[in-house]
Amino acid sequence: MTLHRSQLAILGGTPIFSEKLYVGRPNTGDRQSFIRRVNDALDRRWLTNDGPYVQEFEQRVAQFLGVRHCVTTCNGTAGLQLAIRALGLEGEVIVPSFTFVATPHALQWQGITPCFCDVQPDGFHLDPAAIEAAITSKTTGILGVHLWGRPCEIERLQFLAEQHNLKLLFDAAHAFGCSYHGRMIGGFGDAEVLSFHATKVLSTLEGGAIATNNDAIAREVRLLRNFGFADGDTIASVGINAKMNEISAAMGLASLERLDAVVEANRQNYDAYRTGLAGINGLRLYMYDESETNSYYYIVIEVDEQRMGIDRDTLLQVLHAENVIARRYFYPGCHRVPPYTFTKAGILPQTERLASCTLSLPTGETVGAEDIRKICQIISQASEDAEKIRWSLKRKHFVRSDYPTSICLQK
Ligand SMILES: *Cc1c(COP(=O)(O)O)cnc(C)c1O
Repeated sequence: MTLHRSQLAILGGTPIFSEKLYVGRPNTGDRQSFIRRVNDALDRRWLTNDGPYVQEFEQRVAQFLGVRHCVTTCNGTAGLQLAIRALGLEGEVIVPSFTFVATPHALQWQGITPCFCDVQPDGFHLDPAAIEAAITSKTTGILGVHLWGRPCEIERLQFLAEQHNLKLLFDAAHAFGCSYHGRMIGGFGDAEVLSFHATKVLSTLEGGAIATNNDAIAREVRLLRNFGFADGDTIASVGINAKMNEISAAMGLASLERLDAVVEANRQNYDAYRTGLAGINGLRLYMYDESETNSYYYIVIEVDEQRMGIDRDTLLQVLHAENVIARRYFYPGCHRVPPYTFTKAGILPQTERLASCTLSLPTGETVGAEDIRKICQIISQASEDAEKIRWSLKRKHFVRSDYPTSICLQK
């Protein structure tokens, strides 16, 4: 398998793709079924406020997840905010730094201190040992993130939460359609929050949901998402407006109908990446646990600069030059992102490591096997041409040392 040209684009060749390939390019659901429902909703003139499509979507999602309640929201971030409020979190909450910035934002927004904690040395989720070290008298909860559709160490987090009398909430924005020990993610902890943003595996354009088996929490988030209205004129709490609308729910229903096909396409892409990347020295593709249900939506590689001869950021430049818009999810880690940078620089060694060596590659329905074969060929060639690329780029080195494993923001 060689490219039909001699030079990588970064060395002056023509980009192998004439159009850009993206990570998280939206899946668009069953178009006819979406448009039929949009027309239906317009005819009905019931466009929001717990409309029939929102209700149907909530029932379908709850059923799919095997969870008692699904309460949809206008987006995942609002879902996190409502869940945090309904759980009564305050003071400090333990959260990974290696996540999308919405996770700590949802805490900070409500005056809660995100206590950034490192991830496991051999993984990418909250490290139970680091959590224990980070718990203080002000800690009220743990907010775990099922990164890249892979579950956290749920049982160990549950144990820690019980032991220290903490609430346990999960940011499951990446994990719709994924299971843990055979049970769908969505039913763990006190509540889990999903995102149906257009870039996620199941889309409602913008949208999210709180999934929970706890009746009281479900009742509370329903109140909070609709200004706190208990009924007609009774206002039970200080709520906000975080409702999902009917057009979004229509997209959600149309997307659910096509979910199996999307997941199958993702799985085939994952297999194609496994084949294409096998044998590249120093490159590791994060595998899915085949004993679980997976959405196969996140193709993530780890670049070992020493063995591969090329560092992650240079590989990123190589790919971008070929119109493969790979992304650094997540870089540089929330503890290094304003407004969180007033934490000491240079902390959380595992987070720093992951943020410097991982890369997300394009997949989804708009990417095919032939595209992936070419992407893998580019990566392979980048490794072979590493020295030439290095000479042509002149890059900087990062030096890392031993850092503490957790840090709390001071108010
Ligand atoms: C997408 C995402 C969110 C936010 O969801 P929105 O629906 O975009 O508000 C939160 N956390 C993680 C990890 C995400 O990837």
